[in-house]
Amino acid sequence: MRASVGRYGEETQLQRPDEELMAIVHRELSVVLGTPLPAPVATAVKRWGGALPQYPPGHADRVGVARAALRAAHPTLVLAGAGYDGVGIPVCVRSGETAAEEIITALGGSDT
Ligand SMILES: Cc1cc2nc3c(=O)[nH]c(=O)nc-3n(C[C@H](O)[C@H](O)[C@H](O)COP(=O)(O)OP(=O)(O)OC[C@H]3O[C@@H](n4cnc5c(N)ncnc54)[C@H](O)[C@@H]3O)c2cc1C
Repeated sequence: MRASVGRYGEETQLQRPDEELMAIVHRELSVVLGTPLPAPVATAVKRWGGALPQYPPGHADRVGVARAALRAAHPTLVLAGAGYDGVGIPVCVRSGETAAEEIITALGGSDT
């Protein structure tokens, strides 16, 4: 089972010792699952500070403005990835594919 701790603006969570993070996650999972969980057989803690973008209000509008400006000035330079369209892998793949199609179109080619 994988659990994530903290969010944007809660960087102090990353400073907690592994044992403390494990204890919090174990306790909170028990609450969420509605049953006391047994002690885990094995655990591992990885720290991914700043790995996931969290968009402030107005993000989609700002990205739209940036894309329109780029399209006008540099049509073969496009924005793609988690920083723009969503953090899940499927949406990142779609974002990359869309970007590739836009570049091909800008170059006068066909993406089929
Ligand atoms: C711990 C963790 C768990 C996650 N779990 C899930 C999950 O279960 N399901 C899910 O859907 N999503 C998950 N995500 C989110 C998802 O993995 C990311 O949002 C997604 O991989 C981001 O894709 P990306 O292409 O935008 O960026 P990345 O995958 O970060 O790709 C960017 C690439 O650019 C390269 N790069 C960086 N700088 C340069 C440079 N200057 N020149 C050349 N190359 C450069 C990097 O090496 C990297 O290969 C998770 C993320 C994290 C951090």
